[in-house]
Amino acid sequence: MSNNSLSDKEQIRYSRQLMLKEVGFDGQQKLKKSKVLIIGVGGLGCPAALYLAASGIGEITLVDADKVELTNLQRQILYKINHLGQDKTLAAKKSLASLNNEITINTVNVQLSETNAKMLISNADIVLDCSDNFTTRYLINRYCVSLEKVLISAAAIATRGQLMVFDNRQQGLGCYQCIFEPSDQQAALNCENSGVLSPLLGVMGSMQAAQTLNYILEHMASNQFISFDALSFEQQKISFSANPDCDICQ
Ligand SMILES: [Zn+2]
Repeated sequence: MSNNSLSDKEQIRYSRQLMLKEVGFDGQQKLKKSKVLIIGVGGLGCPAALYLAASGIGEITLVDADKVELTNLQRQILYKINHLGQDKTLAAKKSLASLNNEITINTVNVQLSETNAKMLISNADIVLDCSDNFTTRYLINRYCVSLEKVLISAAAIATRGQLMVFDNRQQGLGCYQCIFEPSDQQAALNCENSGVLSPLLGVMGSMQAAQTLNYILEHMASNQFISFDALSFEQQKISFSANPDCDICQ
């Protein structure tokens, strides 16, 4: 049996996906041989990682330098009281492994930086930006563009969330920095100073996981930008195009 075949146990575990025509046996094998990089294991990274692990992604790499704090437990659903003070990546790995011990979970307990970004992103099939600051977001975007990796980015502040899909295998569609040009005003907004509604992160992180499966299963539409309001429950598709002055993708 090749490494990508599904064992009897896996066929039972994933049976509710195998019966979908959009997944099937071949699709489940594709999920099994996929490598997903999750940068930031916070409010977005936790639900995204949970659903990807549950779905049977074969290799998940978690990048985060933080430790679990009490304020995280309101929304970072991989962490429990007994994880307080532990490295997030290691605590997250324990939670994910207790859900699915048939997949590989790698932990990188440092911040993404110029020294590790290229290596980590080039090793991945697809990249999830679940970070909480623009410095990291721009760094991820730059390497995803240059390495032609699909980037699925999300953000949530207060009661509003955004989901962005960038298919960097295609040229000229625009990148993250085409939409968000660097400015001081953006850098000032985050969950720490603006707050965030807990289930909104579950919605947005789950959307990232769903789009990851769509990409691997070849159902993903091209570039997308979706805005979601957790109060009105309105969802908007926002169209965007490449900025001809973008330093990164043009
Ligand atoms: Zn661009």
